[in-house]
Amino acid sequence: MTTRRRNALDGARITLCVGMLVSGLAGGSAHAAEPNGKPVDGARIANADAEPGNWLSYGRTYSEQRYSPLARINDKNAGSLGLAWFADLDTNRAQEATPLIVDGVIYISTAWSLVKAYDARSGRLIWAYDPQVHRELGLNACCDVGNRGVAAWNHKIFVGAYDGRLIALDAATGTPVWSTLTVDTSKPYTITQAPRVIKGRVIIGNSGGEYGTRGYISAYDAETGKLAWRFFTVPGDPSKPFENEAMARAAKTWSGEWWKLGGGGPVWDAISFDPLLNLVYFGVGNGVQWSRAARSAGTGDNLYLSSIVALNADTGEYVWHYQATPGEEWDFDAVQQLVLADLKVGGKIRHVLMQANKNGFFYVLDRKSGALISAKPIVPVTWASGVDVKSGRPIENKDARYSETGKPVDVKPGPLGAHNWQPMAFSPDTGLVYIPAQQVPITYIPLPKLPVAPLGWNLNVALASIPAQDQGFLLAWDPVHQQEAWRVAYRGPWNGGVVTTRGNIVAQGDAAGNFNVYRADTGEKLWSMFAQSGIIAAPSTFEVGGEQYLAVLSGWGGSYALSGGKAAAMSGNLRNVSRLLVFKLGGTAVLPPLEPRVLVINPPPEPADATSIAHGEPLYDQYCSACHGEHAVGGGVVPDLRASNFLAMDFFYNIVLDGALKDAGMAAFKSALSRDDATAIRNFIIHRANQDGKNAPTAP
Ligand code: CA
Repeated sequence: MTTRRRNALDGARITLCVGMLVSGLAGGSAHAAEPNGKPVDGARIANADAEPGNWLSYGRTYSEQRYSPLARINDKNAGSLGLAWFADLDTNRAQEATPLIVDGVIYISTAWSLVKAYDARSGRLIWAYDPQVHRELGLNACCDVGNRGVAAWNHKIFVGAYDGRLIALDAATGTPVWSTLTVDTSKPYTITQAPRVIKGRVIIGNSGGEYGTRGYISAYDAETGKLAWRFFTVPGDPSKPFENEAMARAAKTWSGEWWKLGGGGPVWDAISFDPLLNLVYFGVGNGVQWSRAARSAGTGDNLYLSSIVALNADTGEYVWHYQATPGEEWDFDAVQQLVLADLKVGGKIRHVLMQANKNGFFYVLDRKSGALISAKPIVPVTWASGVDVKSGRPIENKDARYSETGKPVDVKPGPLGAHNWQPMAFSPDTGLVYIPAQQVPITYIPLPKLPVAPLGWNLNVALASIPAQDQGFLLAWDPVHQQEAWRVAYRGPWNGGVVTTRGNIVAQGDAAGNFNVYRADTGEKLWSMFAQSGIIAAPSTFEVGGEQYLAVLSGWGGSYALSGGKAAAMSGNLRNVSRLLVFKLGGTAVLPPLEPRVLVINPPPEPADATSIAHGEPLYDQYCSACHGEHAVGGGVVPDLRASNFLAMDFFYNIVLDGALKDAGMAAFKSALSRDDATAIRNFIIHRANQDGKNAPTAP
């Protein structure tokens, strides 16, 4: 079998013999992830425990537990872990993917939706694919340009490209088989989610709610890319016929002219599947604008925002929903991982679905009916005092509704959530859920109703962080009794996803750049290695040639990092050293020395025009801060503008207005900003740079 490797940088094609390479590996383990010639299909994913050497789907199984039956690495020997091999990546930001392992090959996606295949044991690159996403679309990245992973099915690998294409690649060669545009490119849709393949169809949603899109989830035929079904999460223009009964019912919960800005409700992360019930579950994001007063005339639950929804897997028809945050206005997306498990609750086995929601509550639902079984806070929560189990509704603190009180309010959790997309894991052995939990409160400052901006976020609320209160920890949670079992504190929030195994271990990378292994039952730290860069991705584990490995991507980024260095420095490491890291017992590979991080702030003199600076600050907040950081303090992902040489040059206008650096990810803002506006932003940044000068916070 021959295959081609595509070089992502120069497009050169090199022929090499992958079949020989992979089949030359020694086998001999019952768990071996060697090629067996069988295509990945629903039976293999549903029976993943029969081949634990592989990791065939984003959460390993359709239940998304991220629990592996492998136990060669365990609580007795984890102390002798070491690096087996590593591979440098060619995109240096926001690595969020969970590696898939199919029959001896690791498949990952990276920032900007690049896909790569490696020999799982040797680390040799087999092929690389670059979908050539236009970098100026980085403008629509609320939360960076990461990609959470690929899906495998019938000798194909699927990636949701950042620009909205769903692409099928030949698993052996990386050559595109088909590509389907899943979005209206006139709207600011993006994709960062890992696709799942269910019953021969690739399931994918999209992001972009903060900018003004209408959310939906779609199913495409895995062989042809043809659309099979689509379910919108928000009703459209009520003067036109609704797509289905679920939309007609939802429209009764909205007011005003929500459809003009799309309503939001993106399906940007969780998807799981129960083959017995034939239900697909997914989470829905929050609405646009954030302020309910601006979005829906201040009233209504606004279905199906911030909800968990179950659909018939064959038809995409609505079956049930549970809305975690009715009438949402704090950015409480309900898209966090949905874990299916069978739990003994009150002496009875319940088939449940679990979610550690951004809003701070841990939900246990009956996955057949959607009925709430229990909900308790996993961190301090101030927007609600609890959840009424009978009605399923939160008991709100009225002060938290800034759009009604008209007053600024500090709220826990804030928009980054008690738990975000970083995957949690559930161990049937310990009965515990391991949650990358955090406390990141924020001050919501209500604004008068603003006109809709053509570019950037449309929230209709201003935000101020409270970095001194930021915390991050690995939380072991008992979902039956809804109580904490143990926790491990980190320096700050925005730590990595989690995996757990039958070996009684939990593995998690952290924002300070360490990769850690703990005892699953007690939280005792067994081993840790400095990986040089913040880790936000989740590990997976696999076995090949009789050896068990742990694999994880390093590479700092995502929304907490973009929101600014002042907060992100809390987490301890602002470096982007993007790599695929693979660990094994007795591994001896060594990372190259780390270059020092230097930030030189040497700005032009303080601008004389105080009015212009004052005009520039809110413009900076609206158009620049989402990527370049609050108060113009960078978070280590994109350039720190205080240190930019362009502040002293008129080329600044070519960049900001005309898109001179669009190929590097900086879009043109001339449709939103005048030259005077750009001058005001420039003056504000120069002012901030002069304020900080040599006292600027430097990253560890
Ligand atoms: Ca959101």
